[in-house]
Amino acid sequence: MRIILLGPPGCGKGTQGQLLEKQYGLPKISTGDLLRQVVKEKTTLGKKAEAAMNRGELVSDEVVVEMVKERISKEDCRLGYILDGFPRTIFQAGRLEETDPLRPQLVLDIKLSEQTVIERLSARRICSKCGAIFNILAKMPEKEGVCDICDGKLIQRDDDTPDVIRKRLRVYFEHTQPLIAYYQKRKLYQGINGEGNVKVVFAEICSILDKEILGDEVNKTV
Ligand code: AMP
Repeated sequence: MRIILLGPPGCGKGTQGQLLEKQYGLPKISTGDLLRQVVKEKTTLGKKAEAAMNRGELVSDEVVVEMVKERISKEDCRLGYILDGFPRTIFQAGRLEETDPLRPQLVLDIKLSEQTVIERLSARRICSKCGAIFNILAKMPEKEGVCDICDGKLIQRDDDTPDVIRKRLRVYFEHTQPLIAYYQKRKLYQGINGEGNVKVVFAEICSILDKEILGDEVNKTV
């Protein structure tokens, strides 16, 4: 199965994706993480991507689609995968379906108000080593500034600043929100209330997925 996590920046796609990865044993693929890795490596592609990312704009469809194509062709994606932050445009959604057309898919849209997006992103910190996500208001690390998992240094992302957050939200409304109607039409869409705490949102997602997976198994035996 392909699980697509949709929703505005800061809605919890990354955190929920990490939990889902553990719960269902499917790899989580975050295009933001893949891009931050090439930026770190300072490749030509990384330099181009960095400029767009720091402005809060989208990296070109072609670049992101190629990255995802390569990643999902790996052995660990054979049984399925969880996409965090991809697709972000209708074009990307179409290319994904062309690339891996037979896989059943489910889209989980984590809904959050603009106000909460701004509050959460301003308080977000990520581990510079393992990418774990923290929040200085809601999910504090045990030791200030240090990752609970790997002892790495916690940092604020360059694009989690007020101006860039506002730009990312505008980009989301213009380019990504149309995916809601796109997936609703295909009957693949489920909306989730993202305002609750991490555990509450995770429980809602799992109940939907369990039903979906169980449904698949029942269908196979009929
Ligand atoms: P994220 O970590 O998902 O918030 O992504 C951080 C940034 O990476 C975004 O603001 C974009 O600049 C870029 N990015 C991530 N995923 C995509 C995508 N699917 N298409 C285009 N740009 C992306």
